[in-house]
Amino acid sequence: MAIPASLRQDLCDIPVLEDPGSLRMRSRDFFWFSPILKETLDDKRADIVVVPRDKADVMRVAAACARNRVPLTVRGGGTGNYGQAVPLAGGVVLDMTKLDQVIWHRPGAGRFGAGARMLDIDRALAPAAHELRFYPSTRQHATIGGFIAGGAAGAGSCTWGQISDPGAVLAVEVVTIEEHPRVVELRGRDVLKVMHAYGVNGIITEVEVPLAPSHPWCERIAAFPSLAAAARFAHAFTECDGIAKKLVTVHDPQVVPYLRRLAPYAGPGQAMVIIMVSEPQAEALELLAADHGGEITFRRGAEEARQAAFAEISGLQPLYEFTWNHTTLHAIRIDPSITYLQLRFPPANNLELVDWVAERFRDEVLLHLEFQRRFGKVTCSSLPLVRYRSAERLDAIMAELDAKGVAVSNPHTFVLDNAGWKRVDAPQAEFKRMADPYGLMNPGKLKHWQAEDMQAIA
Ligand SMILES: Cc1cc2nc3c(=O)[nH]c(=O)nc-3n(C[C@H](O)[C@H](O)[C@H](O)COP(=O)(O)OP(=O)(O)OC[C@H]3O[C@@H](n4cnc5c(N)ncnc54)[C@H](O)[C@@H]3O)c2cc1C
Repeated sequence: MAIPASLRQDLCDIPVLEDPGSLRMRSRDFFWFSPILKETLDDKRADIVVVPRDKADVMRVAAACARNRVPLTVRGGGTGNYGQAVPLAGGVVLDMTKLDQVIWHRPGAGRFGAGARMLDIDRALAPAAHELRFYPSTRQHATIGGFIAGGAAGAGSCTWGQISDPGAVLAVEVVTIEEHPRVVELRGRDVLKVMHAYGVNGIITEVEVPLAPSHPWCERIAAFPSLAAAARFAHAFTECDGIAKKLVTVHDPQVVPYLRRLAPYAGPGQAMVIIMVSEPQAEALELLAADHGGEITFRRGAEEARQAAFAEISGLQPLYEFTWNHTTLHAIRIDPSITYLQLRFPPANNLELVDWVAERFRDEVLLHLEFQRRFGKVTCSSLPLVRYRSAERLDAIMAELDAKGVAVSNPHTFVLDNAGWKRVDAPQAEFKRMADPYGLMNPGKLKHWQAEDMQAIA
């Protein structure tokens, strides 16, 4: 769409980007992990990227878009996997990364600009010995606002659960898209109105989250004779409430060769467990691993692991960058035909179901397991690598997993309310009516809103 001259006028001196390279790069995320999304989203482009310097700028952009009826898609680090931040109808992409302040923090909680990158937040918190409870494996680039609007869980979930759990986010501040934008504070359960809503119902400008006391997280890799043995150890270890831990990831022996830099730490046919544990308790971890037939093949001390995370030393990247959906990134670099799925195993029989999936889909669906705690119970989720054959075959795999009781969320759609984690409940659509009355935000992403979106844009 052509950007109206009146919008440009309204934007005044707010920095914008309009060169083809910036428009392309800031119109993309990691949708290309999916062959299906790649086909649909590759050519979508913003008409202008606006980079607000502060909240006042955000409000001016919101007002300008409302007045001129121009679509607006919010962007954090652009690390989403489902094209959440891709502007389907063009218009404005709003780059939030300059709203990166640490507003305040004290023991137990902190408030941050929505565009603050999660690694930078932890860097700022370190002198006070606090840290974010959890972060996605994209910690280096992902923003805290983008994590709340588009993410789910990550390193730390083995102790603290998921971003949507009660108490995981204390408050968010949201700017509405109206001629006279409002600033709305959502606290407690109201946070769910914009949680995992892909930025369809308000611009998140500030985020308040609980913090944890920081630990000296050291890194270990343990090799096990089979996926089943590794999974049983990982489950038992995650259940050890007395051991402070940040990460417990299991890789099937077939996944290990795709993690090129880690592959030497498992023998042929061995499964691998990647662990971040509080350094004084590493010995307790190692004893438990030995009880389960595991052998520690890699040790990195907490100080060195910290330096690797904060890019203070070169060499092997932090081990969390070999877990969660980084696994897909490593695999696609070696075999571009690989894609992935998103599974959640029920706590009651997760290990049985893991065995079943591994046996049933053998070399087609390759499991890695992310152990986590949910409502007092230990379970695991997985973003398994899939040797892609066709969209129909993916559907058939998902249907079979679903029928067996493994919760499947289809990562090959950009539409909210299609399945699993992307299901939208009433408060989100209701809140959109108030926060985005012209249906301008991220049009095309929220099911049932397309018609209204298009009407507003026309
Ligand atoms: C290699 C790789 C590994 C990953 N690992 C994980 C993982 O471990 N756990 C996990 O949960 N996810 C993971 N992801 C997905 C993604 O990195 C995270 O969800 C991340 O938190 C997204 O943050 P972002 O700032 O990049 O958001 P973006 O991609 O920029 O945006 C995500 C969505 O949020 C909206 N949004 C962004 N900022 C705002 C705002 N201020 N207000 C309103 N809406 C906003 C956008 O419009 C978009 O719909 C991974 C992705 C990749 C590519």
